[in-house]
Amino acid sequence: MSTQENYNNPSPNRSPAEDSQLPQVFNGVDPATRLQIAGQLIISAAKTENSSRQGLLKTPERFSKAMNFLLSGYESTPEKIVGDGLFPAEGRGLVSVNKAEFYSLCEHHMLPFWGNVSVAYYPSEKIIGLSKIPRVIDLFARRLQVQERMTQNIADALFALVKPRAIVVRIAGQHLCMMMRGVEKQNSFTRSEAAIGLELLTNLEQQRLFSAIEER
Ligand SMILES: [Zn+2]
Repeated sequence: MSTQENYNNPSPNRSPAEDSQLPQVFNGVDPATRLQIAGQLIISAAKTENSSRQGLLKTPERFSKAMNFLLSGYESTPEKIVGDGLFPAEGRGLVSVNKAEFYSLCEHHMLPFWGNVSVAYYPSEKIIGLSKIPRVIDLFARRLQVQERMTQNIADALFALVKPRAIVVRIAGQHLCMMMRGVEKQNSFTRSEAAIGLELLTNLEQQRLFSAIEER
């Protein structure tokens, strides 16, 4: 299934078929409790000297709540988030939002990656309320992600809603799975970009679109 097909239908209610892939002990167990069990299992796997010490007693419950929040982006869609935050364009000038921060979880290691997202677009008929762009970013950031897909998701969703002449989205991210483990590179930024509609712009407009999201 392509990202265009599924980003808007994240199916928060898992199908019985997906549930059947879990160990039987999870049958009929609600997601919050499953996350608590996962927290307990991590603590037991850590072989800590005393897993019943005070500081760890409520950790499975806290872990469950934290993960539930970090994965809450499956509970809505860009349409619902943006709601009536679309307005008639009163000009054709370039619009940009720079360095909106985000926090996400990489789907390969479930470790955080974070950074900032810049968006620029040339409106056609509509513009989007500026506060809605960070909300769309958070919607996709609070899912299990890879940075490249998140970049494309944001561009696709904004393009579908705003129908601009062209849009570009750039993300600069730092990944704990590269910093704490693996290659252990502390200062590398991962950059990713998604652009739609460039072919409809003049060369000058293309240049202006990209320079609007350049890191300064
Ligand atoms: Zn990773």
